[in-house]
Amino acid sequence: MEGTVQGVGFRPYVHRLAGELGLAGFVLNDERGVLLEVEGEAAAVQAFLDRLPLESPPLAAVERVSSTRLEPTGETGFAIRESPAGGEPDALVSPDSATCVDCLAELFDPADRRHRYPFVNCTNCGPRFTIVRGVPYDRPLTTMAAFEMCPACQAEYDDPVDRRFHAQPNACPDCGPSLWLV
Ligand SMILES: [Zn+2]
Ligand SMILES: [Zn+2]
Repeated sequence: MEGTVQGVGFRPYVHRLAGELGLAGFVLNDERGVLLEVEGEAAAVQAFLDRLPLESPPLAAVERVSSTRLEPTGETGFAIRESPAGGEPDALVSPDSATCVDCLAELFDPADRRHRYPFVNCTNCGPRFTIVRGVPYDRPLTTMAAFEMCPACQAEYDDPVDRRFHAQPNACPDCGPSLWLV
């Protein structure tokens, strides 16, 4: 899959859609875009292919989907795999995106752990282009590499149903960048 598909929540989206349809397989970012395999009942695979471009995340712009039929490998479960290193980088990097309504609600909620945290972001919003140092778009290839996530942020990052599942710039006042005025 090619287009603006990295840093926009595409892998979590594919993970959710495959889970919903009971499909096994994997998804990863590669140097061209997003590569994925699904395995399961023919009807479910077809439904997956039909829905894939239609229900993609708000910041994604799918330019091309190419698919090939493969022999089933008896895979079970669906995984987000590590991006392979190497290859000629050709993936589009998405622009930064203004804070989404969900993050704004947290920003102004005194009870939220990100209350007034200027770098609040999630899979649907936040910095992309300004933090990218290379593709595939993964945290180690961004300026966020130096900020190790705290347990609370890591739990969000690892939870497939969380809005911050695999959100590369995920941060909070405990573990992310801070800002002060002098
Ligand atoms: Zn957001
Ligand atoms: Zn944190």
